[in-house]
This record gives sequence, structure tokens and C-alpha cells, in this order.
Amino acid sequence: MPKLIIANWKENPVTLKEALVLAEASDAPCVAIAPPFPFLGAVRAVVKEANLAAQDVFYEEKGAFTGAVSASQLASVGVTYIIVGHSERRRLGDTDEIVAKKLRAALAQGIIPILCVGESREEHKAGKAEGAIRKQLDVAFSLLTKPYTLIPIIAYEPVWAISTEPNAEADTPKNAVYMIQYIKTFMSHVALPMLLKYIYGGSVNAKNAESFLKEKEIEGALVGGASLKQEEIKKIIETAYRY
Ligand code: PEP
Repeated sequence: MPKLIIANWKENPVTLKEALVLAEASDAPCVAIAPPFPFLGAVRAVVKEANLAAQDVFYEEKGAFTGAVSASQLASVGVTYIIVGHSERRRLGDTDEIVAKKLRAALAQGIIPILCVGESREEHKAGKAEGAIRKQLDVAFSLLTKPYTLIPIIAYEPVWAISTEPNAEADTPKNAVYMIQYIKTFMSHVALPMLLKYIYGGSVNAKNAESFLKEKEIEGALVGGASLKQEEIKKIIETAYRY
């Protein structure tokens, strides 16, 4: 089975026309495309094989929440995955508690959450990565009271390795595997045992995709910057099919 590729376009591209060209270049069954909200429907209409992901969700189902989009609304337009807890959303105000509500809201609507966890540069340098991630995981799963048949995804995304961070540093497959193993062990001791899938994100591109995806502990990649370049994403998809 190929590895999973999440193409997180963030606030890109600028026009629908560009988005559709990119969607066609990214169209493969192992891919979930996470375009900006306004492009979701049109992307869905042009892809034949890729799944649809949302970059965020609000945790209330409906009501007077201007600008918010709910999990049930996303489900109704065919969204299969929702990214929650991305470091860029955390920076804009999402606390661990808010992330927990979003995770629960996605699962309640039958959408697979992709929970992003990762330590900051300071935490990394101070040797506090494990502690930081433990807290994010602990709170994120704290609101779940029943098992779900869906398999949530945990994306290990060290913030210091995200390509758009000032002075981003490349992570190594060795560290990514170590951290994913750590997360797996931690998650095997949580109160509500569940099946989970583990992926890596942080400057994955056409050149280094193989070094991450060949690792059996890494079941896929969340790709930001490189997912905006047709040739890059095509090569990453080819690599995903080799493992
Ligand atoms: C991300 O934003 O989640 C990400 C992994 O981005 P990039 O691939 O650009 O580092």
C-alpha cells in the first residue's frame, strides 16, 4: 500500500485556476489535497482519485460563529480528512484545549483528524521535545470518551523544520523515526486505546521524500511548500508508491 501524502496548500494558490491545475497534478489515490476552503468544491470536481482534506475546522456544529466552518459542513462537501493543531493555527490562537475540541468534532462527523504535534525550536534545543509533545497529545485526546472506528492520524511536525519558518533546519529521518516511536509508545498508554496512523511533516520535498518514506514507522508525509510545485508533488507521489 502506498504511503499517504497530505498536500497542505495553506493560503495558496491565489486563484481558482491555479488551484485546479495543481489539483490535477496531485491527483492520486494516496493523496489528500488540503486546499483553502473556497476551493474545496471545485477541487473535488476535478480530481478523480485524490481525497479532500480541510486545513482547519471550528468545533461548534452550527450557529452564530461568523467565519467558522463546521465538521458537518465539511463532511457534506466530501471532506475525508481535517488537519487540526497545525503549528500555524496554534500560533494564531489554537490552544491544546481548542485542538481537543476540533479533534472530537472531526471524529463525531466521521472525518479522519490529522493531529499535528511538534516541538518549538526552543524546546528542541533544550531537549524538551518529548515533554512538549506529551502535553499536546494528552490534552488533544482528553475529550474522547468512546472508541471510534476511524483511524486518526498523528503528524509529527517539528516546528523548527517547517520550510516557511525563519532559519528552518532540515530534520533527519533518524530523529523523525525516534519521535514517532516515542509518540507511539506514549499513545499505547493513553486511557482510550485506539488504532492510529503516524506521518511526518517538515520540509519534505522531492529530494528527501525517499529518505523519510522508506522508514516503516513513517506511514506518510504532510507536505507544505513542495505540494505547491507540480513537479515536486508528482515526484513525492511516485516515491510514496515505492513504499
Ligand atoms: C507544514 O506546514 O505542515 C509543512 C510540513 O510545511 P513544509 O512542507 O513546507 O515544511
